[in-house]
Amino acid sequence: MKVAVIAGIHGDEVFGLKIVGELDQRSDQNVITMVAHAEAIAKRRRYVDQDLNRSFEVIGESKEARLAKSIKSKLRSMRPDFIIDIHTSVSDVSCVAIVPSIEPKIVVMAQALGVQAIVLMPCMLTRRSLIGQYPKTSLSLEFGRRYRSDKLAKEVAERITRCIPFKQLASDLEIYEVYATITKDYPGLSRINSLTFDKTLEGFPFLAGPTTYESIGGFLARKLGDQYQSKSQYVAIME
Ligand SMILES: [Zn+2]
Repeated sequence: MKVAVIAGIHGDEVFGLKIVGELDQRSDQNVITMVAHAEAIAKRRRYVDQDLNRSFEVIGESKEARLAKSIKSKLRSMRPDFIIDIHTSVSDVSCVAIVPSIEPKIVVMAQALGVQAIVLMPCMLTRRSLIGQYPKTSLSLEFGRRYRSDKLAKEVAERITRCIPFKQLASDLEIYEVYATITKDYPGLSRINSLTFDKTLEGFPFLAGPTTYESIGGFLARKLGDQYQSKSQYVAIME
C-alpha cells in the first residue's frame, strides 16, 4: 500500500514538517511526502491569499487555488492508496483523525495511526478541503497545542511506515460527528475541554477555544449515530 503524507497546507502549522522530515530519512518506497504550501511556511503565515484548505474545488486565480490544482495533479500522478494530511491546532486535543467519511479503510487507518478519537466532518465543511476531494481514502491528523515534540514526530513517522497501533488504544475508539458550531460569545470558551461532554453546550466541543478560529468558537460534535441536537443559545446548527 502506498501512502501520501502531506504537511504544511497551513503555513503556520509546522509540526507536520517534522513528521515529513522523519519519513524522508526512512526512504520507504511506500511513503510519499509532500510539503503543500512552501511560501506560506516561509512567511510563517496560515495562507497568502486565501486558506488553501478551502481552495480545493475553487476556480480562481489566487495562489492557493493554483496550488490546490497542482497538489491534485501531483497526487493523480503519484497514485497513492491513502492520503494523510497533517495539521495542528491551538486547542487541547491530543491527536485526532478528522475524516470525510467513515469508510472502513479510513477507520482502520485512524486506528493504526493511534489517534485519540475519530471525528467525522460534514461534507459542507470538507467540500473545499483536501480530504473532501478523497472522501474514501484520506484523513487529516490534527495535533493539539501540547503535541509538537521531536519524539512524537518520530513515533508518528514510525506508525505511518509500519502502521503500529498505539498500545493504549483498542477497538473502543469513539467516533464523533460534527454537526454544529459554537458561537464566539460562549463564556466557557477559555476553559473548554475537547471531546468532553459540555453541559451548557449539550454536546462535545471540538477544536474549540477563544483563539482557534476567527469567526467561530469551535465545533460541536455528538457521538456518531446519536440524533440528539443541542438547544443551547451558544450553538449554531449546520443544516
Ligand atoms: Zn490546519
